[in-house]
Amino acid sequence: MPSANQSATDNLPVSDVQKQIQDAITPITDSEKIDLSGALNRILAADVVATIDVPAFDNAAMDGYAFSGTDAQQHQLLKIVGRSYAGHPFSGPLQAGQAIRITTGAPVPLNADTILPHELAVLTDDNLLDVRPVNFRTGQNRRRRGEDIAKGSVGLHKGTRLSPAELGLLASLGVPEVQVQRRLRVAIFSTGDELRTPGQAMNEGGVFDSNRISLGAMLTLSGAEVIDLGVLIDDPAEIESALRKAAQDVDVIITSGGVSAGDADYTKQVMQRLGQMNFWSVNMRPGRPLAFGQIRTTVRPATTYIFGLPGNPVAMMVSFYFFVRPALQLLSGTQVKMPPQIPAIATEAMPKKIGRTEFQRGICKLNAEGQMTVSSTGMQGSGMLSSMTQANCLIVLPSGQGAVSAGDRVHLVLFDGLI
Ligand code: AMP
Ligand code: MG
Repeated sequence: MPSANQSATDNLPVSDVQKQIQDAITPITDSEKIDLSGALNRILAADVVATIDVPAFDNAAMDGYAFSGTDAQQHQLLKIVGRSYAGHPFSGPLQAGQAIRITTGAPVPLNADTILPHELAVLTDDNLLDVRPVNFRTGQNRRRRGEDIAKGSVGLHKGTRLSPAELGLLASLGVPEVQVQRRLRVAIFSTGDELRTPGQAMNEGGVFDSNRISLGAMLTLSGAEVIDLGVLIDDPAEIESALRKAAQDVDVIITSGGVSAGDADYTKQVMQRLGQMNFWSVNMRPGRPLAFGQIRTTVRPATTYIFGLPGNPVAMMVSFYFFVRPALQLLSGTQVKMPPQIPAIATEAMPKKIGRTEFQRGICKLNAEGQMTVSSTGMQGSGMLSSMTQANCLIVLPSGQGAVSAGDRVHLVLFDGLI
């Protein structure tokens, strides 16, 4: 029996479904302070304000000689009076007619503002720097104090995902610890009596469960903590108790399989009983069936979100990419970051039915003229994981698009480190 709050809507555009899911998400607010060294992929829970200038002092962008540009207009032979090496600055200001040897990153002394690269320097027999034969511009090759990040400015904003560059930037500010959103806890399980876990004996009609491991891996790459609940057998009581238990303890439950129309699994019925669910038929291929909803428990104050992804492995991955990942981004306290659609020239014909969005697996590369081109990986069955391993992108063919001819312009999205 469908519950009263069930909505079954047919053939919804991908963007409508994305919007409905994202509108339903309330970001988590719990945060914790952790060491910078363990903060990869975490989300900043507060702005980080720079307490120092970066760089902290004017320094040389090249190895060479430092002097005052205006002074060098008057004194064409400069006396080399010392050196400034990284970590070992020259003490004292430069006087008129003087220069020093300097290495990249070393402090530029007081009164100097110009660095002449080593390769261009002309030294006289008595070790004077002869600036006559060279062209220089006053101020050249000098990195200014605070030019990267000025003291008092926001180095990184709340909601930023910490990738390697962000971690480096925080370290450059001297920050040892950061306040980050807690990690999302996500429970996953597979459904279907045919499923076997690798290592188990295979029997007639059996299929090895590949979704759980790819789903778990995509979640790990997304920064979530994964709770693997295994394969649930097709028994409503067992599915219900697993869902209820998980809902008390995690932010999101993700299942795969058992949400297509006419599916024999009980997952759908149980979800309807426990939560406020939507069972959509999305106008896309692969990945038509999709369930999304919320379960409230008395144990957790927050909502537990639940996704029922299609069982076919490629459909599962594509649905994760377009629906689950943006939702997890919002939930974890960062902005939705959809990868940009890149125009490319199709190098071959691709069959396509008008009236639905298709995400074909593609291989993109630059041709000899520097244009982005894309070819298909071949057969596009929604169960064929080999198409995903060969591909480096998804070719996005919108609903109104018909068959693609060689030379046509299409758009693609890169896997973006996720797949
Ligand atoms: P379903 O959505 O349950 O109707 O499943 C659609 C297809 O995906 C069927 O061929 C299933 O055997 C297959 N499938 C479902 N779950 C998994 C899984 N966890 N791993 C691999 N294949 C699956
Ligand atoms: Mg099934």
